[in-house]
Amino acid sequence: MTANVRELLLSRIRDVSDYPKPGVMFKDITPLLADPAAFTALTDALAGLCVEHGATKVVGLEARGFILAAPVAVRAGLGFIPVRKAGKLPGATLSQAYELEYGTAEVEIHAEDLDRGDRVMVIDDVLATGGTAEASLGLIRRAGAEVAGLAILMELGFLGGRARLEPALDGAPLEAL
Ligand code: AMP
Repeated sequence: MTANVRELLLSRIRDVSDYPKPGVMFKDITPLLADPAAFTALTDALAGLCVEHGATKVVGLEARGFILAAPVAVRAGLGFIPVRKAGKLPGATLSQAYELEYGTAEVEIHAEDLDRGDRVMVIDDVLATGGTAEASLGLIRRAGAEVAGLAILMELGFLGGRARLEPALDGAPLEAL
C-alpha cells in the first residue's frame, strides 16, 4: 500500500474520546465508509492480502468486520462467512467463549461453512485486546480449516493484542494496514 493511500485511510478515521465509556478512544470508521475512494482503496488492499496469502474464504467479525469483509470477498472472488455473537446463527454452530474486562462473551460460526483444506483470511476493523480475534481463530481451526491470516485496518498496539494472538496465529501473518 502506498504512503498516499495510508494517509487517505488515516485521514478518514475519526477519534472519539470517552466513547462508549470514559477512558476509551473510539476509532470511528464511518467517515472512511462514506468516502468511496477510501472505502475502495481499503477493499482493494484487503483483497490483495487475501490473494497474497492464498485465502480460499473470507471471515468477517461482527459487526464492523462484516462491512469490510463482504466487499473484500466479492472483490477477491471468495465466499464470505460471518463470525457472529452467540445466538444469531440458525444452523449447527461451533462456539467459543472468551474473557472480557468484565465478564465473558461468545462468538459462533456455522460449522458447515468451512471445509478441511480451506485457508481463511479473517478481517476486522480494529484489533484491541485481541480477545475477539483469538476466539475466532480458534473456531476456524476447530472447523478443520487453516488460518491464512488476520487482516485489520488498525491495531491499538498499547493493548498488546498482537502478543496475545501469537499462539492462535501459529505463524500465520497479522497484517495491520
Ligand atoms: P478486542 O476483542 O478487544 O480486540 O476488541 C475488538 C473489537 O472491539 C473489534 O471488533 C473492534 O471493532 C472493537 N473495538 C475495540 N476497541 C475499539 C476502539 N478503541 N475503537 C473502535 N473499535 C474498538
